[in-house]
Amino acid sequence: MTEQADLHADAEVGGSNHGFDPAARLAERRDRNLDRDLQPADRVAARTRMAPDPRGTRPDYGDERLVFAANNYLGLAQDDRVVRAAQQAARSVGTGAGASRLVTGDTGLHRALERDIAVAKGTERALLFSSGYAANVGTITALDPDVIFSDELNHASIIDGCRLSGAETVVYDHCDPNSLAEEMAARSISGEADEQCDANVQRDADESWLVVTDSVFSMDGDVAPLAEICDVAERFGAWVMVDEAHATGLYDGGGIVQRDGLADRIEVQMGTLSKALASQGGYIAGSEPLVEHVVNAARSFVFSTGLAPPAVGAAREALRIAREGDRREQLWDNVEYLRDGLTSLGYDVLGETQILPVLVGSRDDAVALADRIRDCGIVAPAIRPPTVPEGTSRIRVAPMATHTTAELDRCLDAFEIAGQERGLL
Ligand code: PMP
Repeated sequence: MTEQADLHADAEVGGSNHGFDPAARLAERRDRNLDRDLQPADRVAARTRMAPDPRGTRPDYGDERLVFAANNYLGLAQDDRVVRAAQQAARSVGTGAGASRLVTGDTGLHRALERDIAVAKGTERALLFSSGYAANVGTITALDPDVIFSDELNHASIIDGCRLSGAETVVYDHCDPNSLAEEMAARSISGEADEQCDANVQRDADESWLVVTDSVFSMDGDVAPLAEICDVAERFGAWVMVDEAHATGLYDGGGIVQRDGLADRIEVQMGTLSKALASQGGYIAGSEPLVEHVVNAARSFVFSTGLAPPAVGAAREALRIAREGDRREQLWDNVEYLRDGLTSLGYDVLGETQILPVLVGSRDDAVALADRIRDCGIVAPAIRPPTVPEGTSRIRVAPMATHTTAELDRCLDAFEIAGQERGLL
C-alpha cells in the first residue's frame, strides 16, 4: 500500500469524523434560515413541470408552470437550431473534449467559437473556459494584480478570484465612479485625485491596478456606468475588466460594452455561455497578448478539460441567432410589457434591464409572495438577506423572449392576486 493509500485506510478504520460534521453544519444553516433546496424541473424552457419541493411543504400540482426565473433569456435552450448544432457537434467532434486544450482537447470548433466571440466583442482574440466562474477566477489570478478595485455587489466568482489572487482588494460603492476615484486617490502618492494630472505620476507606476465590475447586476438589474469607470481607471492608469454574464448576446449581439461602444477602453471582457447563449462555459475576450498569457497562466484553464463540443456548438449557434436580432426584440418587448404591467399594479420595479426585481421589503412578505405566485403557476424566486440588504427583499422576475402575451398576463394576474391577498397593493 502506498503511503497515501495508508493514510486513507487509517481514516476509515478510525471511524472518526476528524472534525467534519456536515449534518451539524446543515442544521446550523437551517436554524438561520439560510439553507437552500434544489428545484428539479423537467426541462429548460418558458414552461416546465417542477417536482414538488423536497420538504413537501408546497403542494405538487404536477402541471406545467411558467418560469420567470431563468437566465435563458432568449429562450434558446430548446430551440431546434441550437439543439441540432449541439447534436452535430457531438457527432462530428465528440461528446467530451477528452483532455485540456493544452493537451488534445483543442478542436477547430473551439477555435471557431472563439473567433465568433472575438468578432462580437470587437477584440483580437477570445478564450473559452469550462464556466464563467472558472473564467473569472482563472483570469483574475492570472493577471496577478497588486491592487483590485471591486464593486461591492460583484458576483461571487469575481470575489473568489480577488481572494485567490492574493491582491489587496478595495471594495468601492456600488456603481459609483466617485467612490472608485476616492479609493484610487487614497492609494496614490499625492493622496488626492487631480483631473489635470497624469495618473501614472500620481501613483507608484510599478504597481498593477485592476478595476473589476459586473456590467448588469443580477439581483438589482442595474447597469454599471462603464464609461465613467473607464474615465477614472484611465486617470489612474488602471485596467478594467467587465463581467458581461447577464448581458452577453443581448445588446447588438454583444453586451453593454458593445452598446456603449467601449471595446477599445476595456482590457478584459468576460462573460458566460450559460445564460442568453443557452449553453455552458465561460469566456474572456481581449488582446492577443492578454489571451496568450491567460492560456499559459490561468490554472482553471490549464488544468481543466476543454469545454464539451456540444456546448460549444450550441453556444455558437445561439450567438449567431442572438446577433440576428429577432429574439432580442421579442425579449425587450416582453420586458417592457411586464415592467409596465407590474408598475401599473402598484409594484416598485427596480433596474433597467431584462431582470425585473420587484421590491417587496420584508423577507416574510417576499417568501409569502413567491409561494403564492407559485401556487398560481408562476416560478420566480424570493431574494432575501444576506443576498440583498435587510428590508429590500424582492422577487426576481426575468421574462424570456419565448413567453407569449397570454403568459405574461398570467404572470401579472398572479402578482395581482398574491399582492392583494398579502395587503401589498
Ligand atoms: N458572473 C456573473 C455575474 C454571474 O451571474 C454568473 C452566474 N450566475 C457567473 C459569473 C458565473 O457563470 P457560470 O454560471 O457560467 O459559471
